[in-house]
Amino acid sequence: MFNLILFGPPGSGKGTQSDKLVEKYGLKHLSTGNLLRQEIADKTPLGIEAKSFIDKGQLVPDEVVIGMVDSFFELHKDASGFLFDGFPRTAAQAVALDKLLSLKQTSIAAVLALEVGEEELVKRLLNRGKTSGRSDDTNEEVIRKRFAVYTNETSAVAAHYKAAHKFQSVKGEGSVDDIFAALSAAIDKKMA
Ligand code: AMP
Repeated sequence: MFNLILFGPPGSGKGTQSDKLVEKYGLKHLSTGNLLRQEIADKTPLGIEAKSFIDKGQLVPDEVVIGMVDSFFELHKDASGFLFDGFPRTAAQAVALDKLLSLKQTSIAAVLALEVGEEELVKRLLNRGKTSGRSDDTNEEVIRKRFAVYTNETSAVAAHYKAAHKFQSVKGEGSVDDIFAALSAAIDKKMA
């Protein structure tokens, strides 16, 4: 199995690049944000609980997200590898992911982090909010809160994978194709 984490702040292009990467490398896309939005759309108890956190720009509790990932693994036992997008977002989630993967006798091959400046991110998110229907993308205050959460909690995830020598930054500004080429080059090197 080849398992990859695509890391980076809200608006850094994880979703766009994930769609292209899963197609090229045959990985299963696991976006916890997408799974949570589906739960909200389906009005499940999990979705109703998650919505109150998402609307404030806060993280959904670890046990909820980890349970959801565990169920996703159960549903996709035949996957040849996963691309994690927006997960893990806390140190506890990173530890839980390592454990779940070791039960499957596999591990994370690489963490690729998209680097984009904050003002460019705000611009992209407000733009996305006009068409995405995502309520957390229309309010600049919620967007800034999500950056603060990213810096405060998610940096522990970067530290976790830096310690394991799996973390690599990739320039996330420029054309979609150039960024995709840079990500692909990093993945090809890891796969070789
Ligand atoms: P995203 O689509 O990845 O930007 O996620 C949108 C929102 O869903 C985030 O701002 C969080 O409120 C929530 N969320 C998504 N993934 C996670 C996660 N791994 N842990 C906690 N909350 C999450």
